[in-house]
Amino acid sequence: MKISVGGIELDLDKPVERVSVVDLICPRRGWYAYREPVSSVVSGVDEMVVAGQLVHAAVLNQLRDRCRVEVPVEVEVCGQRRRFRADAVCDGYVIELKKRYGKAYAPLYIWQLKVYMALLNVKRGYIVSLEDGYVKEIVVDDAELRYVREVFLDHLRKAVCGEGEPERRVGQWCNLCKFRGPCLSGRLL
Ligand code: SF4
Repeated sequence: MKISVGGIELDLDKPVERVSVVDLICPRRGWYAYREPVSSVVSGVDEMVVAGQLVHAAVLNQLRDRCRVEVPVEVEVCGQRRRFRADAVCDGYVIELKKRYGKAYAPLYIWQLKVYMALLNVKRGYIVSLEDGYVKEIVVDDAELRYVREVFLDHLRKAVCGEGEPERRVGQWCNLCKFRGPCLSGRLL
């Protein structure tokens, strides 16, 4: 679908060419996400997302005195600079805010936090569950920081630089992946 606004044409069939840290838990999921049409992303967004962003911003405001918030984290692959954003970076630790930290989403949230820790070279991080106040602490050593950084950059390269579909990285996160239909083609996990 194309939309004309003030002489500018918006093409919602174009790929978003964006990929989140969560998507990059699997290079194949990242590959699909990078090429997903804008219209497909829009159809998955509802008012709850907007409300969630407002809550998120309100909570981040409370961290501003002690932390840098919405901190850009940049990496470069195949000549492209890709920018991600950590919720808050404080004195020696990283914070990610979530609506609720639950079993289903835990692998994705832990992966995301560890990536920010690896890219920022910070060994301690916290996932804050806003709904129930639970705080999950993650502490890693230098070897794990290096490992996470290598895996993340490998998945990012495969998602945005390569031509063909990368290999699957099957895990419990597949149950939450919006691309599991085309990816797994009806196979059982
Ligand atoms: S279903 Fe699993 S293996 Fe396939 S793209 Fe999604 S996360 Fe990757």
